Amino acid sequence: AKEHGLGWYRMFESSMEVDLRERRAMEQDLRAALLRNEFALHFQPIFDTNLELVAFEALVRWMHPTLGLVSPAQFVPVAEACGLIIPLGEWVMRTACLAASGWDVPCRVGVNLSPAQFLRSDLRSTVTTILAETGLPANRLELEITEGVLMENTEGAIRALTELRDIGVRLVLDDFGTGYSSLSYLQLFPFDKLKVDRSFVQRMEADEGSRAIVSAIIAMCRSLNLQVTAEGVETIEQFDLLCARGCHELQGFLLGHPIPQKNVEHFIRRYLLAQVG
Ligand code: C2E
Ligand code: CA
Ligand code: CA
Ligand code: CA
Repeated sequence: AKEHGLGWYRMFESSMEVDLRERRAMEQDLRAALLRNEFALHFQPIFDTNLELVAFEALVRWMHPTLGLVSPAQFVPVAEACGLIIPLGEWVMRTACLAASGWDVPCRVGVNLSPAQFLRSDLRSTVTTILAETGLPANRLELEITEGVLMENTEGAIRALTELRDIGVRLVLDDFGTGYSSLSYLQLFPFDKLKVDRSFVQRMEADEGSRAIVSAIIAMCRSLNLQVTAEGVETIEQFDLLCARGCHELQGFLLGHPIPQKNVEHFIRRYLLAQVG
């Protein structure tokens, strides 16, 4: 299915121009969508440099009755602004963990956490409950957090991350390089892994500066004992450059697009067959 943003939803792409009335309308639609089960997860595979399947990232979609598949870039910001991201995010985590607990390979599953979810004091108990309900081992859940939320309240963020780490889940710093990350911060927070934003990956081939930045990020992560995943790998040239520089894991259209949840088991079976053959 092709994703599109028809009609008035298109205006949410430029949030500066969002009209309050239309935002309200979307909020109401999102509320109804949650009750009607109109959300679905797609899963994008992540591989290591030997092309072993190591994880899937869960990516939410809205199956709108008339607009078709709506991208999270269009509705997650609205869900965040009105608090609906809390029940939606919990649904995503539960659905992703339940799916992963049934897969034929013990790979990890990545779940995106919005800042509002991360800042809630009951996050630890939500995660614990979902892991117990679904039977997914904690070390197979990776929580992806963007850096913005870390800067505002460093102490609080360290506390929240440490609590999560004590449960045994893996902590991932998402979209690295897009914000104001100070490299020294990496040492401060108990992350297991960092995802290099695709904007750097995609400039690597043409731009020596981007190659240097990515190389430096990978080298620094390796010396801090952090794993590195490159996002948005679209070409073999990017794949080779990243592997040569010691990147651990790769994600992108070259290796696999996000696929609907119902197709994941089939994808895994084919992967296992190809490995034997
Ligand atoms: P993200 O966390 O950085 O997720 C990766 C995005 O990059 C996905 O877009 C994925 O489809 C896209 N992508 C993957 N490989 C490639 C590639 O090779 N080239 C290009 N051009 N793009 C690639 P998607 O699914 O549209 O999600 C967009 C963003 O929406 C995500 O960015 C994440 O920030 C947010 N999001 C998605 N699902 C959730 C969720 O369940 N909760 C929250 N809070 N946010 C979510
Ligand atoms: Ca992510
Ligand atoms: Ca990302
Ligand atoms: Ca992103």
